[in-house]
Amino acid sequence: MRYDFSQHASHAGGIHEADENTSYHPGGHASTPHREASVSESERTLGRCPSCGAPGRKVGAETLDAMLEPDDRARVSETIMRFCRTTTCAVGYFAESDALVIDASRLRAEVFQKSTSPERLVCYCFDHRVSELLDDVARDGDSMLPAEIAEKCRQGLDRCAQTNPQGSCCLGNVRAVLTDARASAGPTPDEEPARCASHCCGATTSRPSRSEASRLTAAAHDL
Ligand SMILES: [Zn+2]
Repeated sequence: MRYDFSQHASHAGGIHEADENTSYHPGGHASTPHREASVSESERTLGRCPSCGAPGRKVGAETLDAMLEPDDRARVSETIMRFCRTTTCAVGYFAESDALVIDASRLRAEVFQKSTSPERLVCYCFDHRVSELLDDVARDGDSMLPAEIAEKCRQGLDRCAQTNPQGSCCLGNVRAVLTDARASAGPTPDEEPARCASHCCGATTSRPSRSEASRLTAAAHDL
């Protein structure tokens, strides 16, 4: 089995004992060649999902307590687990140092990152769905939800570690959904208009091309 030998020889790490990993390639292989020489194979695969290869963030015991059914929680026990956020990967949590994985479908809450449904939750503490952000953008071009959620977090009302499968605050996801929704909706009226290039007169224009802006600015100066 020459092929198997050469393949496994280049991936000598305990995490590869899972038999579905024969096609696995460390995600950082091409993008961080400068680290390759000084970082061992086990260090490089540590913290990466054994299924998709993406790096995963550690989740605490309180998140595992809240998200796992008792039998899965018992399997995990004291193992350090990480969260896989790859949409196309079935894994929810994976062990940092062995082949133990728990699929996202086994979690008690639907995982935001594993679905594309607009009805999925994006903010688990205050019960906000993706569709609310989409509706806000469709109606107003923007949404106040990130600011509202941030204010509640400032007041200490969030319980992200217990409610969010990723074990941390949702605001990054909320802002990402909003950014995508705004981009899909196109330019909005409150986008900053083009201004006088020399900032001398405060003149604004209605989003002209660069050459047109120069001409308009010159015309304004001629007045
Ligand atoms: Zn994964």
